[in-house]
Amino acid sequence: MLFGADRKLHRMLQYWAGTAIMYTTVVGLMFGPAALAGQAQARAICIYVGAGVAVFYPLVRVGARIGLAPNLLAGLQAVFSISCHVWGYSIAGPMRGVTLIGLPVIVVFCIFAMRPRQTLMLTAFNLAVMGGTMGWLAVHDPLHFPPAAEAVNFGFVAVGSLAVTLLTGEMSKLRARLKRQKDELLAALDTIRLLATIDELTALTNRRHMNELLAQEERRRAACGSAACIALLDIDFFKRINDSLGHAAGDDVLRDFARATRAELRDGDTLARWGGEEFLLLLPNTASGEARMVLERMRARVAALAPCDGLDHRVSFSAGLTAWRAGEAIAEAVNRADKALYTAKAEGRNRSIEA
Ligand code: GH3
Ligand code: MG
Ligand code: MG
Repeated sequence: MLFGADRKLHRMLQYWAGTAIMYTTVVGLMFGPAALAGQAQARAICIYVGAGVAVFYPLVRVGARIGLAPNLLAGLQAVFSISCHVWGYSIAGPMRGVTLIGLPVIVVFCIFAMRPRQTLMLTAFNLAVMGGTMGWLAVHDPLHFPPAAEAVNFGFVAVGSLAVTLLTGEMSKLRARLKRQKDELLAALDTIRLLATIDELTALTNRRHMNELLAQEERRRAACGSAACIALLDIDFFKRINDSLGHAAGDDVLRDFARATRAELRDGDTLARWGGEEFLLLLPNTASGEARMVLERMRARVAALAPCDGLDHRVSFSAGLTAWRAGEAIAEAVNRADKALYTAKAEGRNRSIEA
């Protein structure tokens, strides 16, 4: 409830909680060991810190929704934190040196939201504000803020902050490079997955992937027992096309055939290239009457293909259709479809036979 369901927001709110714990600890130290409890200034800074932490929770929570960029949000929190540090430094007396440790920590918190150049600018701002405050205190209250001590303090914090900024900048670049490589690998994996599932020539599902889909469908049907049909389609007299027009023209016909038949597939239907000029059609949740209609629409599409120049017949196909019975192994259904296809060829081709 506190951190929300979104992963990115969850992480940002975890950082917010981390800073809240750090602020609480520091405030606790101010009222305890630092013995500043009696000072009105210490009470005021505690209220200021508490109010700031409280304001940033809703800002982080709705930041993305109101269009507040993450780097701007981080910048605002950093400026608030710098103001707390500067104020704390000016009232912490002899213990003021410890407040300087927090300055590089602010930069580290910002590296997840800011680019290296932005964190460098933040550090410059950080040092300008802290340096200005130290200088002002050294000039106006040299008894409590001896200029030499202030200069040494500032030198240390400047060197530390710059080193941390440069190192975190390198880490940010490394992180960005790793993310880019991960994205490239994921894209390559998607391509490999796609290439592993489609037939290169026709862009239909390939036989290997079809076997996976059939196994999936077999499991699904074992669970719910719905109707399904399969059909084996084989282009008629394809060898003649190759023989008279050449292999490349044969490939074109295979592509055209795939494009035409694919146009009749409904959501959930799959047509796979099963062999050379043989295709396996899977129609889940389909009764055989409906399957026959799908095949006839495919037949009409194939018949409407432009005739091949130099070929004395139009491209057509024969099909063996069968209902995939409940509990039946897919191999048996394919076998039955194959026999029906054989009958369709024997009965004169360009037809569908159901078995
Ligand atoms: P039927 O009507 O009995 O099916 O006769 P058919 O000529 O279509 O059948 P057959 O099995 O005799 O010939 C199929 C041919 O398909 C043989 C093979 O060279 C060709 N073939 C298989 N794969 C490809 C391919 O990827 N490209 C091309 N161009 N031809 C292929
Ligand atoms: Mg054939
Ligand atoms: Mg064949």
